[in-house]
Amino acid sequence: MITSKLPNVGTTIFTRMSQLAVETGALNLSQGFPDFDGPQALRDAVAQHISAGHNQYAPMTGLPALREQVAAKIARLYGRAVSADTEVTITPGATQAIFCAIQALIQPGDEVIVFDPSYDSYEPSVELAGGRCVHVPLALPGFGIDWQALSDALSSKTRLIIINSPHNPSGALITRAELDQLAALIRDRDIYLISDEVYEHLVFDGAQHASILAHEELYQRAFVVSSFGKTYHVTGWKTGYVVAPPALSGELRKIHQYVSFCGVTPLQWALADYMAAHPEHVTELPGFYQAKRDLFCDLLGNSRFNFKRTPGTYFQLADYSAIRPDLDDVAMSEWLTREHGVATIPVSVFYQQAPKDLRLVRFCFAKREDTLREAAEKLCAI
Ligand code: PMP
Ligand code: GLN
Repeated sequence: MITSKLPNVGTTIFTRMSQLAVETGALNLSQGFPDFDGPQALRDAVAQHISAGHNQYAPMTGLPALREQVAAKIARLYGRAVSADTEVTITPGATQAIFCAIQALIQPGDEVIVFDPSYDSYEPSVELAGGRCVHVPLALPGFGIDWQALSDALSSKTRLIIINSPHNPSGALITRAELDQLAALIRDRDIYLISDEVYEHLVFDGAQHASILAHEELYQRAFVVSSFGKTYHVTGWKTGYVVAPPALSGELRKIHQYVSFCGVTPLQWALADYMAAHPEHVTELPGFYQAKRDLFCDLLGNSRFNFKRTPGTYFQLADYSAIRPDLDDVAMSEWLTREHGVATIPVSVFYQQAPKDLRLVRFCFAKREDTLREAAEKLCAI
């Protein structure tokens, strides 16, 4: 019998709920992906590059044209001049970038601070590197950082803190002032950061995304991760990038070259073309998704769900205690899928130990207007 390296891990909730949605014919507002396509010009560009013969390995660090577009965007939005050569690496998805960054940083026995609830790939990646996650719960109801709890969790073994803003699943945003507070907390310690910024362009109500890329001090010890999948509505392309100072990028690349060597070539060509031709795409994205959030929330206003409009991401949390307080959130998600035809994600699965009375489910509103209307109608009928 093989001895499992991840004995506590099963099939993720995203696979399970998406499967259940298919089996039951429910509307799938669970796993985070759009039910509409990315821009036509972007998809056409892939076909063109495949026809034009761009089908062999890309450079290990990513196509120069795409790395340059990423660097140009960072200069434009966050005011930092990063080197496309030594600081930007294209990866097959943000998940792979996070995995490689963790393998680059973590030695056996190291501790990694993760905030609960948090994205499910962090902990297994830390365990495979021989590290241990120390879970620090975010403060309810707003899912902000509990600074006392964070400070108490630091030890001489802490090597890494993973932050995620805009935050999956809550949509909470870390502010610039909080980044300053974080800088002060770790200034005299040998601690690195992974900043998971895959939802960097999905911030609403006029808020600005506080990127580590705009924070001189923290950037010097950070890997900043993003995903073209989220930004260009093409999650199935599994293409992302990581930006880090040259020494950190160098260590990450040593791992990346043996995990996958490089990302998919024609996708990188197409993304480079599209980014060059459409710099406005990323600045229009907040408005695009805010309209979806507002439509969904306006319609859901007539339901018995309780919620506050999400400040970021394409996820909306909703409290269902007025509907089925007797069900935990996993049972509630199944019940909503099977009995009411709308698949959701339970929030407790993002925790090591969820609060016992948590009654929250997560809806993904990256959907067409007709999907959102149909889903809201079903949810309002409960
Ligand atoms: N981090 C977070 C917080 C996410 O929600 C996702 C989405 N799956 C990822 C990372 C991974 O992105 P990708 O699909 O590019 O691997
Ligand atoms: N990030 C997506 C979500 O939170 C799912 C990605 C995945 O399936 N691993 O729904």
